[in-house]
Amino acid sequence: MENNCIFCKIANGEIPSATLYEDEEFRVILDLGPASRGHALILPKKHASDLFELPDETAGKAMVLAKKIAGTLKEGLKADGINVVQNNGTAAGQTVFHFHMHLIPRYQKDTVQVTWTPGTLSEEDKNEILSLF
Ligand code: 5GP
Ligand code: ZN
Repeated sequence: MENNCIFCKIANGEIPSATLYEDEEFRVILDLGPASRGHALILPKKHASDLFELPDETAGKAMVLAKKIAGTLKEGLKADGINVVQNNGTAAGQTVFHFHMHLIPRYQKDTVQVTWTPGTLSEEDKNEILSLF
């Protein structure tokens, strides 16, 4: 547990939360500032500040858990879709530096914004990026 990390405290039950699911490694809670009805957060109990610090095994389990919880939310709330969002770094919108995945139920005609304006892929960028792999 990391000192002064609010999600460590929530995930480990030191601070109460609206918990949808809990096992040895994860707690799934309702977001206090929901983007939509049913907005939930998947928190690993062991601290990792972001995706890059998260052990591979935990990353894999988090995605399987996201699938399960998203299914229950979608069916139970009659959502029309679900966004799975995961922010890393301030530039990417991360505000709490304990890894978490957002599950954001979507409803036809809601006003949630998880969107961008499409750009164009230049030949130069394409080649430079391809050369990284
Ligand atoms: P981020 O911007 O880091 O991806 O997401 C942080 C999320 O955590 C936000 O959606 C915010 O509403 C939520 N949040 C911040 N503090 C608390 C809290 O104390 N309890 C709960 N349940 N959610 C929180
Ligand atoms: Zn933490």
